[in-house]
Amino acid sequence: MSNLEKASRLIDEENNYYARSARINYYNLVIDHAHDATLVDVDGNKYIDLLASASAINVGHTNKRVVKAISDQAQKLIHYTPAYFHHVPGIDLAKRLAEIAPGDTPKMVSFGNSGSDANDAIIKFSRAYTGRQYVVSYMGSYHGSTYGSQTLSGTSLNMTRKIGPMLPGVVHVPYPDLYRRYEGETEHDVAVRYFDAFKAPFESFLPADETACVLIEAIQGDGGIVKAPEEYMQLVYKFCHDHGILFAIDEVNQGLGRTGKMWGIQQYKDIEPDLMSVGKSLASGMPLSAVIGKKDVMQSLDAPAHLFTTSGNPVCSAASLATLDVIRDDHLVERSATEGAYAKQRFLDMQKRHPMIGDVRMWGLNGGIELVKDPQSKEPDNDGATKVIYYAFAHGVVIITLQGNILRFQPPLVIPREQLDQALQVLDDAFTAVENGEVKMPSDTGKIGW
Ligand code: PMP
Repeated sequence: MSNLEKASRLIDEENNYYARSARINYYNLVIDHAHDATLVDVDGNKYIDLLASASAINVGHTNKRVVKAISDQAQKLIHYTPAYFHHVPGIDLAKRLAEIAPGDTPKMVSFGNSGSDANDAIIKFSRAYTGRQYVVSYMGSYHGSTYGSQTLSGTSLNMTRKIGPMLPGVVHVPYPDLYRRYEGETEHDVAVRYFDAFKAPFESFLPADETACVLIEAIQGDGGIVKAPEEYMQLVYKFCHDHGILFAIDEVNQGLGRTGKMWGIQQYKDIEPDLMSVGKSLASGMPLSAVIGKKDVMQSLDAPAHLFTTSGNPVCSAASLATLDVIRDDHLVERSATEGAYAKQRFLDMQKRHPMIGDVRMWGLNGGIELVKDPQSKEPDNDGATKVIYYAFAHGVVIITLQGNILRFQPPLVIPREQLDQALQVLDDAFTAVENGEVKMPSDTGKIGW
């Protein structure tokens, strides 16, 4: 067990001043510095990072090229409001993002500061372009923390408790769940059943010709790394097309190489979204987001309908250009695919030995390892998952849960094989220790999990 003396003192202080609304406490980790996939805390303890700051650090912590780009740009120009004047990094980045977005239709870009505001922008642009008011999103999704994006989210009751009413006009439909399908159901059956559930509102209370867009994650991130069947995605895509509804993708978590493809939606065949939101790793954790959309859709709003003082900030834009260079030059998309396939196989091997591993879902270095009390009943094992992440932390590996019982495996895409192996071994040992009843939780770790 590491010495956490300074960390514990700092956290006591933090508890006095830092509002609880932004804290999901896992354990006493106060980070001092980091590089690649290594975190070092204020007491000098080292950890392997399997969280990559919630997938915001795909190119590795303090990546040298990104740090240099930030520092060079900061010495030239830190900020000028995008409302009135222009700067080179912003223009270069808009061009670059328009070029690398999926599909051949010409694209334009609108910048913001967070994934949340990018998803608000999706509501705005789709309403403006279509002249329609309703928006469909998914149960189990996470889209952010502004009123708009929080309304779109369907992940957690604590997101809406005490702060309603939320934005009107948003309808949630269920996201396909292949793991908890009915007995005997094929993937095709699941796709059809969930597509029926998708259509149900349109057949009762939701006029398709008054619906502006459907917003979906290619793979639900905070929902537990859950991927819809190909057939389902194609059916929804076609439905949107047939009814003049815009098809929008949230790539904030799954974009930029995370899934072993540049964009999460490229996990599916030939889909060109009308709008997509990007953030997190876009500028390696610097506050920058973007909505990338088809040109005619993006031309539907006039200033200042979507504008923030610091959106597209030059330092963040420079960080983003460097991040995109690193992803390309260091072949991180391919790396995510190959190392992800390797890690997946390791987890599948562990599943044979550990009955608490109910499901292994992994596309790229992007996994959801679902822990259950019993593989037959599939009852979520929140207590076991808590113990696994606690054991991992005590053995130098940082990992968290999604939905209480799903391990979130999203290391920086640069993680060396040696560290990956070390971390996987710690998790393997953690499953053994938890199954043998050997992990005791200290009472002072605070609330763990959602
Ligand atoms: N969309 C998705 C899919 C996310 O995972 C997140 C963050 N977890 C967001 C949007 C919100 O991004 P931000 O926290 O930068 O506002």
